[in-house]
Amino acid sequence: MIPAAFDYRAPSTVDEAVQALVEAGEDGKVLAGGQSLMPVLRLRLAAPATVIDIGKVAELRGVRDDGDALVIGAMTTHYDVIRDPLIASHAALLARTTATVADPQIRHLGTFGGSLAHADPAGDLGAAVVAMDAEMVIAGPGGRRTVPASEFFVDYFTTALAAGELLVEVRVPKLTGWGAHYEKFHRTAQAWSIVAVAAAVRVEGGSIAEARVGLANMGPTPVRARAVEQALVGAPASADAIRAAAAHAAEGTSPPSDANADADYRRHLAGVLTRRAVAAAAGVR
Ligand SMILES: Cc1cc2nc3c(=O)[nH]c(=O)nc-3n(C[C@H](O)[C@H](O)[C@H](O)COP(=O)(O)OP(=O)(O)OC[C@H]3O[C@@H](n4cnc5c(N)ncnc54)[C@H](O)[C@@H]3O)c2cc1C
Repeated sequence: MIPAAFDYRAPSTVDEAVQALVEAGEDGKVLAGGQSLMPVLRLRLAAPATVIDIGKVAELRGVRDDGDALVIGAMTTHYDVIRDPLIASHAALLARTTATVADPQIRHLGTFGGSLAHADPAGDLGAAVVAMDAEMVIAGPGGRRTVPASEFFVDYFTTALAAGELLVEVRVPKLTGWGAHYEKFHRTAQAWSIVAVAAAVRVEGGSIAEARVGLANMGPTPVRARAVEQALVGAPASADAIRAAAAHAAEGTSPPSDANADADYRRHLAGVLTRRAVAAAAGVR
């Protein structure tokens, strides 16, 4: 189907984009890579009066080193995240997670910020940014504010972004030297996650010194598997210890039942995938 008619704006700076968003009010929509928004417009699930294309805003692209954190521009494509040397060195979990998103064509157009702003509970990147304690930097008419990833995702397809606000960049604390793995269960290659687990661990002297585990599609928003993390810290980096910790994966979650899987099956998957993800991250067979 052809989308409903809309005004098209193409700002070249963040300030201009925010101004355009403010002028458009509730009827404005940001266009990033278009990989989720265009189908929504074509199916007429949304009919914004104004579409603000941020593809020309150069300051929104790229990855930079900022001491203890990496700063990733919202318009950095999935493809660029996967290939970035800073991300490979300091945020391997993000590269591994992003490599599982969709297919090469979508990864060349889809963006880091667009995926996070879209907030699909089956999306992959949310689990990784929540696990990494990332912070979302949001620009609006009153200036910039920072929201922890754990508070950015509010509900199904709903974030802390208000009307007139733009996600500009994501600050990701470095996890240099940590092992990382993303374990995704889907029915066919390149499909969305039925459940997925993002795991990062730091192993020291044969024990797990620190652990982060994020879950995708185990509720309306990505969540941390805190009980797993607590069980892992101080435990030996062994298959038995990881299996015991992973048994806590579904605690505190509220997975959906849908045509792909019911909630009980998702709880089962969360345990299995957490065991696999943590074992791979820790280098345990
Ligand atoms: C066939 C298919 C398969 C896919 N498979 C997967 C998958 O397996 N895993 C996965 O995680 N994703 C998957 N995706 C989604 C893909 O990752 C998209 O790139 C992503 O959801 C949206 O990114 P985008 O840059 O294209 O954003 P757009 O489609 O342009 O925008 C998406 C939404 O976010 C808003 N938005 C975008 N950028 C900003 C910003 N900077 N500030 C505020 N709001 C903003 C838009 O207004 C819109 O509401 C798939 C998509 C398709 C079409």
